[in-house]
Amino acid sequence: MIALQITATTPHGVVLSRPWGVALDGLLASVLWHRRKWAARAAGENFTYQHSQTPETLDLPLARCGDPEHEADWHWMATFADLHPHPQDATEPDIRWRSSRTDRTRLQHLSPVIGSQAVSDSTGRYQRRIVPVMAHPATRLTWRAVGDPDRIRDLLTDLPSIGKHRGVGEGLVTHWEVSETPDVPDWVAGHEHEPGVLGRTAPPRCLDHPGRGTGPLGAATVRPPYLHPASRTTAYHPAR
Ligand SMILES: [Zn+2]
Repeated sequence: MIALQITATTPHGVVLSRPWGVALDGLLASVLWHRRKWAARAAGENFTYQHSQTPETLDLPLARCGDPEHEADWHWMATFADLHPHPQDATEPDIRWRSSRTDRTRLQHLSPVIGSQAVSDSTGRYQRRIVPVMAHPATRLTWRAVGDPDRIRDLLTDLPSIGKHRGVGEGLVTHWEVSETPDVPDWVAGHEHEPGVLGRTAPPRCLDHPGRGTGPLGAATVRPPYLHPASRTTAYHPAR
């Protein structure tokens, strides 16, 4: 396990659901999960994610901060994406548009008497809408991590796009690059975008001098699946 920098080339930007970037450990876990799901399907077995159960710890090719046996707030040594914010004079949001329409056939699952007049594309309250989607116009995202470069490269080959709205072509990744950064100390590589800038959610035990270069202290999850409350703890939010 060595200090690494991972770069995604994203020529069209990326759409996010949170104010900070996508977590590298979450991306790697999603690939492992999908590979297992496909292997189970090929073997004729049923294999689904159960949100109600405590998630199993997947064997990610990353070092750990904290001992899973003794520290409930342990996490993988990897940052969220550094979005490389534009200078202050160029903060124009990049608004994309997508359409949304009410599906009459699906509504008829709820009530069979919904006719074509009640749900029209062009009139009334259920008509087709154009909705805005905010994109982050970065052409390059970077992460830091402490891990096994070859295993990480292998998992990234299964990620042609990242972020939200991938199904309509957002978040395209044209190139992944994993480079070794032997000059970066392991702790920095596992927690910060650059020295002094916290790049992931981190419990207070991680930080000697919290407050400078961190986001606010609050409740947050610290490892994938990030939407599951199992790893919810008190943590500093990323600085960006
Ligand atoms: Zn830590």
